[in-house]
Amino acid sequence: SKADGRGKLKVFDADMLLARQLRNQLVGELKEAIAGSQLVLYYQPIIRLDTRGIEGVEALVRWNHPTRGMIMPDEFIPIAEETGMISDLGGWVLRTAVEQLQRWRSDPLTGRHDFNMRINVSAADLQRLEFVEDVREALTSAGLDPSLLVLELTESAVIQGNDLDRYTLNSLRRLGIEMEIDDFGTGYSSIDYLRRLPVHAVKVDRTLLSALGSDPAQPALLAAVLQLIRACGLGAVWEGIETAEQADFLLSIGCTSGQGYYFSRPLPEAQLTEQLKHHKTW
Ligand code: C2E
Ligand code: CA
Ligand code: CA
Ligand code: CA
Repeated sequence: SKADGRGKLKVFDADMLLARQLRNQLVGELKEAIAGSQLVLYYQPIIRLDTRGIEGVEALVRWNHPTRGMIMPDEFIPIAEETGMISDLGGWVLRTAVEQLQRWRSDPLTGRHDFNMRINVSAADLQRLEFVEDVREALTSAGLDPSLLVLELTESAVIQGNDLDRYTLNSLRRLGIEMEIDDFGTGYSSIDYLRRLPVHAVKVDRTLLSALGSDPAQPALLAAVLQLIRACGLGAVWEGIETAEQADFLLSIGCTSGQGYYFSRPLPEAQLTEQLKHHKTW
C-alpha cells in the first residue's frame, strides 16, 4: 500500500542521513588518524607455490579507531581519495612498509628469507607530480634497494591513465621499481594495455579463482588467462587462494606465485615476524 511505501521511504531517508553523518564524522577523524598513530599495516605473504617459500608481502592498511574498533580499507580508502587525504595516507603507508622491510632484512632471523614489499597505490597518487620523488626518498632514507619494492596499481587507475600517469609509470620503472596490475579480470582487461604498460606482472583477481568449484569451464579459462599473461611477457600472481585444491590446481597449470587465506591471512607486524623466525615454508 501507499502507506507502506511512504514508511519505507522514511526509513531509507533516515539511513541516508545516518550514513552521511557517519561519513562526515569519519572525514574529520581520518585526518587525526593519519596525523596520529591510528593507522596500522597488516602484511600478507605472497608464496612461491612450488617451494612454498615466501617471495613477498603485501602491505594492507587498517584504521585502528579508538572507539569504532578496526576499520577495513574499503570503508575509508574511498573517503581518503575523495577528500585528498590519500596522498598523506599513501605517503605513510609507503614509508612504513619500506622501513619495515628493511628491519626484516637486517635481522638475521627474519633476513634469511628473501622477499620484497608490495604496496597498493591509488590512482590519485599517479596524478601527483611529487609521487616519484616521494618513492625515491622513502627508499633512500630506509636504505632499501628499489628492486625490493613492487607497486600494485588497479586496472582502472592505469587504463584511464593520461600522459602524466604514463610519465610517472616510466619514471618509476627507471628507478628500478617493479609494478603490477592488481585486480586483473574485474575491469576492462585488454591485451592491448597489457602489452603497452611498463609493468612486470599481473595479479589476477580472486573472483576468477572462486568460481573454480562451480563452473566446469573455469579450469580451462584460468589456464587460458595464465597463457595470455605469459604471452604478454608478464609474470602472474594469483590472489584469494583459500584451499589446498586451489593451490594444487594453480601449480598444475604452471602458476608459481600466489597469496590467500590458505597460506596466511594478513598479519600484524609482530605475528609475521614470529612466522618468519620459525617457518621456512608456508
Ligand atoms: P586488494 O589490493 O585487492 O587486496 C586484497 C584483499 O583481499 C585484502 O583485503 C585481503 O585481506 C583480501 N584477501 C587476501 N587473501 C584472501 C583470500 O584468500 N580470500 C578472501 N576472500 N580475501 C582475501 P583488505 O585488506 O580488506 O583490502 C581491501 C582493499 O583495500 C585492497 O584490495 C586495496 O585495494 C585497498 N587497500 C588496502 N591497503 C591499501 C593501501 O595502503 N593503499 C591503498 N590505496 N589501497 C589499499
Ligand atoms: Ca593489492
Ligand atoms: Ca587484488
Ligand atoms: Ca581490490
